[in-house]
Amino acid sequence: MKETTGDNLLRSGTAVLERLARYLDESLAGEGPVIPLRPMRELMRDLGLERWMREGGMGAEGLGEFLETYLGHTIRMHHPANMGHQVSSPHYAAALADLIHGVVNNPMGIYEMGPSAATTEAAVVRWMTGKLGWAGGGGALTHGGSLANLTALLGARAAAAPEAWENGVGGELAVLAPSCSHYSVARAASILGLGARAVIPLEVDARERIAPGGLPRALARARSEGRRVIAVVANGCATATGLYDPLEAVADFCEKERLWLHVDGAHGLSAILSDRERGLLKGVERADSVIWDMHKMLRVSTLCAAVLFRRSADMGKVFTQKASYIFHEKEDLGLDALHYTLECTKAELGLKLFLVLAFMGEKGLASYVEGQYALARKFHARIAARPGFECFVEPESNILCFRYGSAEVDQLRLRNAVVREGRHYLTTAEVGGRRYLRVTLMVPGTTETELDGLLDAVERLAPAAHISKQ
Ligand SMILES: *Cc1c(COP(=O)(O)O)cnc(C)c1O
Repeated sequence: MKETTGDNLLRSGTAVLERLARYLDESLAGEGPVIPLRPMRELMRDLGLERWMREGGMGAEGLGEFLETYLGHTIRMHHPANMGHQVSSPHYAAALADLIHGVVNNPMGIYEMGPSAATTEAAVVRWMTGKLGWAGGGGALTHGGSLANLTALLGARAAAAPEAWENGVGGELAVLAPSCSHYSVARAASILGLGARAVIPLEVDARERIAPGGLPRALARARSEGRRVIAVVANGCATATGLYDPLEAVADFCEKERLWLHVDGAHGLSAILSDRERGLLKGVERADSVIWDMHKMLRVSTLCAAVLFRRSADMGKVFTQKASYIFHEKEDLGLDALHYTLECTKAELGLKLFLVLAFMGEKGLASYVEGQYALARKFHARIAARPGFECFVEPESNILCFRYGSAEVDQLRLRNAVVREGRHYLTTAEVGGRRYLRVTLMVPGTTETELDGLLDAVERLAPAAHISKQ
């Protein structure tokens, strides 16, 4: 009997799935190094990349061998000792969505190019705007939060300076944002033609949160420079510290001054799902735009983010001034997302969030967020009680900064030494001019055992990270 392409997919795919299922279980059980770092030169050789590209012919068997090496050099996102970046420890339902997308491949910038995908995206966007209480809101899924920030600020620019789309901008526009904002905000200002210098830093408190008292001064400064403010950016929550800006107070100011409020909720907006943690976001519903990454706290694999607007009409103006025809197509079968996104061709992002929601349920995701936030508070208490360690502040999310040892210990070198061991993964962040060790608790399986292991490693490796030894 002739073997079909479908048969080939099934044969290769089944082997891959079996191997991945084992990888997942091993990772969850904390087996293997969480991060096996080797030089790229060696990996290039071991993976046989150039040979495969040159010769082709990889079948199920070749793929099996390749995958073995490939998996051996991955960061294990499900490993309980993975406390590194704000990247999700994805639910397997997200992987299934990636697989479905890989076969179906309906890039649904235009409705007819992927009716199911476009409809699914519309449904999850409506779910998200619903969480914000934005009945008249709209939004789109984007390939990442950085694009989402850019799109939101483009929306702010369209509202404040509608002529900019045709004429470009001079040096007259500005954005107010705390300097701890994600770098994509400053980048967006440059890309929008405002220039990075048009991002006027907001005064912050000792925890790098917006100090509401400083808002009028920042606005006055912008005006004294002859600039018009198109948006105020607040964090919910900030990348480095995981702390939430006082959104209610910022919203009051924006309302009074009739300024566009953009809340960067890439990481922290997911707290809106939790009855217990939602209060951190009080005031976010008064924003004009927000972004929300599903590939951070919603267990979705990369990439999957959303830009959301309180008024869908604002979204219609982002990429064109002729918004009306988009909303009233003559044959209105469905929405063509490409009018609202930078991307033309776009992956079936909605399916990823949808399947995770459908498997875990909204309650499951809410309790995941609550669990990780509570874990960070528990870890904070444990670290603060341990001699030699010093915490930045009590965490508000699942991001936690701390230091070890005297001023003589270079925290960056310390972190690198821990990562080189491969048994724990953590990051660092500079807050208020000081370098901290930083953990982000994304993995549901992380417990005090892994934390204690990490702290032991930090203590053990600190002598080698002394500045005097440089
Ligand atoms: C991660 C993050 C971003 C960028 O999102 P990407 O999806 O990585 O592009 C923007 N803002 C904040 C606050 C973030 O934490």
